[in-house]
Amino acid sequence: MKLSTRSKEYIIPEYSLTGDLLSFLTCNLQYRYQNKGNLPPSMPIQLWFGEFIHGVMEEAYLKWNSSDKKDFPWDWEKEIKPIEDIITKRLKVKGLNPPNDYLSNYGPKENMYSARVDRSINIWGPHLFPLIEDAEVLIKGIRNMPLDENGNARSEYYSINGVIDVLSSLKLDEISSIINDKTNDVMAKDLDSIKEDSKESQDDKIMDKSQRNSFQQTLDSFLVISSDDIGDFENSNIGDISSNGEVNKILEYLANDKEFNDILKRFPDDEYEIIIDYKGMRRPCAPNKKDFDMNNIHLLNDDSNDDNSSLDDYKTWIQHEWQILTYAWLRSMQEDAKPVICGIIFYLNELVPSTGDLVAIREDLRNNKSDIPIDSISKEDWMLLNEWNEKEDLPIHRDLSDKFKMDRSIRIVNIKEDLIDDSLLEFDEVVNKIESSMIKELNGSSIKEAWRADAELRTCTACDFRTFCNKKKKNEDDKSKVPFTIP
Ligand code: SF4
Repeated sequence: MKLSTRSKEYIIPEYSLTGDLLSFLTCNLQYRYQNKGNLPPSMPIQLWFGEFIHGVMEEAYLKWNSSDKKDFPWDWEKEIKPIEDIITKRLKVKGLNPPNDYLSNYGPKENMYSARVDRSINIWGPHLFPLIEDAEVLIKGIRNMPLDENGNARSEYYSINGVIDVLSSLKLDEISSIINDKTNDVMAKDLDSIKEDSKESQDDKIMDKSQRNSFQQTLDSFLVISSDDIGDFENSNIGDISSNGEVNKILEYLANDKEFNDILKRFPDDEYEIIIDYKGMRRPCAPNKKDFDMNNIHLLNDDSNDDNSSLDDYKTWIQHEWQILTYAWLRSMQEDAKPVICGIIFYLNELVPSTGDLVAIREDLRNNKSDIPIDSISKEDWMLLNEWNEKEDLPIHRDLSDKFKMDRSIRIVNIKEDLIDDSLLEFDEVVNKIESSMIKELNGSSIKEAWRADAELRTCTACDFRTFCNKKKKNEDDKSKVPFTIP
């Protein structure tokens, strides 16, 4: 009798969106040593904080959602520190140790990382947690493996994965209805002070929208209260609602995003989802609206990963958009999923920006390289930032308004089908580059030949491999060349 043999092992290479694709784009060679060579960085501040803040927000949500639901604000010592301790232990197991200035400073007054955690939970938690339908959802999908320049591939497919939090339209609907009910109560008390024509126009607006889906209706009525007619109610108690934290800030940002509202109005389905991601970094440099409109391009259509791309400054901004678009596609592969209409990214360093962050924010504003330009921030905030001398003055992050910090810490990425296809093609290309480097190495090239050493200066400054990487050698070679002069 012939015994059957075990079939040949079949590998499907797996790529995580943040752990592989975005870190490969930061520097190919560093990615090779850290991710493929399992050489964790010795000072993993950026990597550690990214995972730390993500883990803390997830754990805080689970705690908030448990039976002993604790109202905000949370006390750092009693409620937040135990969460920080759990996440610190978890990350240590993965080889990610906290930086020394986290260990040697105690509490949010002394320690910037704890201050960011404290602000993130207490500022965004009350608005975000009630909207979350599902936390830490693992999303996964399979794509055809692109071929390298010689027509080779390690396998037929590759898999992409990521982890997201999901908000559902039903939950948004529920919360916005509660807000509208509460607001209507307040409005009823002040009804006499409201002008008749204003009331009629509100009625008209609500009537017009009666044909649309329920979330759109509640969001519309929310929009009526939150911005359009706020002047009519300025003597009412709406301000009190806001200061009591009862107006949901996330719904307010969505209600004020024109593109989001346009997409929602045209959306055929009753139910949809919004996906959430947290970033332990400042809001990246972004194209201003005028540049964006003038070029009449969508950033994804230009290959921003090319050398000397005109979009070089905006790489991180664009990559985060890809990430959300790809997450939307991955989510659509899941059985229980509803269509995703937008993603929200929280840039949590903006809530407690470091001196370096503030200098970079000011540079972006002065150079008009931000999607939140100078004319959309308050005069007081801009004067404070513009006149601040970081070398002589005290840090000013506490003096900037909460509105300035919240506006900069939330980004809405609207989902458009054609952009999803573009972002998937971009990701195929990045996977192709990773796989090509791997095949080169497997075929005998040295690591430094197979993987390109190229990164921004601040990445190189914190890199463990800077003493021997090709980029340093190239820079030294360039410096040692005697400049050509005409006698
Ligand atoms: S020093 Fe810079 S170019 Fe070299 S491996 Fe590190 S990040 Fe990459």
